[in-house]
Amino acid sequence: MGAAKANCLICAKPLVYFEDALDVTCAICGKKETGHSICEDGHYVCDTCHRQQGVDHVIEECKMSTSKNPVELADHLMNHRSIYPNGPEHHTLIGAALMTAYKNAGGDIDLEKGLAELLKRSMCVPGGTCGFWGCCGAATSSGQFYSIISGSTPMKQEEWGRTQRLTSNTLGRLADYGGPRCCKRVGFLAILEAVPYVAETTGVQMELPDTIMCRYFPRNAECLRTHCPFFPEGATHPNDREVA
Ligand SMILES: [Zn+2]
Ligand SMILES: [Zn+2]
Repeated sequence: MGAAKANCLICAKPLVYFEDALDVTCAICGKKETGHSICEDGHYVCDTCHRQQGVDHVIEECKMSTSKNPVELADHLMNHRSIYPNGPEHHTLIGAALMTAYKNAGGDIDLEKGLAELLKRSMCVPGGTCGFWGCCGAATSSGQFYSIISGSTPMKQEEWGRTQRLTSNTLGRLADYGGPRCCKRVGFLAILEAVPYVAETTGVQMELPDTIMCRYFPRNAECLRTHCPFFPEGATHPNDREVA
């Protein structure tokens, strides 16, 4: 495990993305599949290998958390070596932070059971859906959280609508900033969208911090810098210093 700044878990070199899928072999488990990204040295790591440790960490921490603040909880979860600057483990992390804070703020849910269901659903959402599906995994994670707490199914009426509405509002908010992808930016935005929506539709009021300051930008070369609402005021990205 050594992906400090870059994304390849094997050699830490940057990933190259392809519009058309390639035949690839996971450098960790040997699984053969098709994928849209390999690193500059040709390594491919499958989604399962990329996120297994991260999602285990997320679920274990959430079961023990007493936080009512999903931003603080998400930030705490992100600040662990098993959570990469970007990756599909965030597709579990965001919904899990919301569900845990919802429970701790008085929400009526069996947290252990809810987290297990969220894990199952979120593991079906691969990396890169933001760019390839037109539906960011932070939004699906928030939608899965809301679906579970509201008891939505494909056959429900109101719950179905309310769940789509949250995902839709979230995607609109993410679209306002454009890409490239950043799992921290979209995750915080998804939570900021979900908290008032949950309060309005369920009466359960989670907490939010006064401000959110990202501490992960030095590891994300594509950070939007001052165009990101969470970029610390007055900060300089290390990559910009290197080229100056
Ligand atoms: Zn590599
Ligand atoms: Zn693998």
